[in-house]
Amino acid sequence: ALLSLGTACSNEREGSTSADSASDSGFAQDSLIGVALPSKTSENWVLAGNLFTDGLKEAGFKADVQYAGASTTVADQQAQISAMVTKGAKVIVIGATDASQLSTQVAQAKEAGATVIAYDRLITNTKDVDYYIAFDNFKVGQLQGQALIDGMKAKDKKGPWTIELFSGSPDDNNSKVFFDGAMDVLQPLIDKGDIVVGSGQTDIKQTATQGWKAENAQQRMDALLNSTYSGKKTLDGVLSPNDTLARAILTSVKGAGKELPVVTGQDSEVESVKSIMAGEQYSTINKDTRKLVTGTIDMVKALQKGDKPEINDTKSYDNGVKVVPSYLLEPIIVTKENAAEAYANDDKLAPLTK
Ligand code: BGC
Repeated sequence: ALLSLGTACSNEREGSTSADSASDSGFAQDSLIGVALPSKTSENWVLAGNLFTDGLKEAGFKADVQYAGASTTVADQQAQISAMVTKGAKVIVIGATDASQLSTQVAQAKEAGATVIAYDRLITNTKDVDYYIAFDNFKVGQLQGQALIDGMKAKDKKGPWTIELFSGSPDDNNSKVFFDGAMDVLQPLIDKGDIVVGSGQTDIKQTATQGWKAENAQQRMDALLNSTYSGKKTLDGVLSPNDTLARAILTSVKGAGKELPVVTGQDSEVESVKSIMAGEQYSTINKDTRKLVTGTIDMVKALQKGDKPEINDTKSYDNGVKVVPSYLLEPIIVTKENAAEAYANDDKLAPLTK
């Protein structure tokens, strides 16, 4: 297992297998690289766009970084990807706005000889996606589920605990993975009766937040507070899949004048880190966007040289047509306890933890 497998595989971790679809010939150093991102539904997308623009240029490539608009996201992104193909992009990096609506565009990309990398969000129901790079989404969900339990324990709340569940946008493949990861941890306690979902809404269709929009989460929380929690009933915890939605949920609970429940999150957004330090939101997840973008640019560099990009997972991400060779990074749970340590090397967040 310690044998070097030669240059083509030398970048790969032990135990990983090669993807079969990389081009072996490489392409010119100053080629165009397309990056199609979804709309700016959370801070990480804004950060990613800037990092891609700078990082790709620094590496000598031409960069075309686009965002889907706020409302006509799917059509926008489809048109942007087609335009990148027409302009001759050698690699197209895609953070899908709707996982299942890009098969025509990625087929065009493949036909033109481009490599397609799904960034953060998987592209489904197509063979035309070469690689996937993301933080381990199932692990993100597990960390959120565990944080919810830990937070309720830390508050010395007596069980059984009453909670509510929120999930992300149904068109984002991550939403189900986050939710499944969280339920992997929560379901055994629900089965034992240690945790009760007050509204009884445990199906992902009932918990979904269309478009990852704060106002949709806030509306659903308002409705729950007006029905299930209209009397004295306490709400001990809320599973929130990200920070934007966590803050919307907290706003709703504050509006109702209820004691704040333990609320999870994700993305380490500035306002949520502040909220955690102030003792309101309980947890977030650190998925360092700088690492994800650097990892993606490393893939592009490998492809440019005609090498195969490093992958470390060949079983987790079945997109309905194929298992997409993936490079997964480790997410980190952050609470008030470890925030200073977790953000020590982050110029923007570190000062907030002092
Ligand atoms: C990302 C999350 C983000 C969400 C909304 C997901 O695909 O993985 O980090 O919070 O989209 O933008």
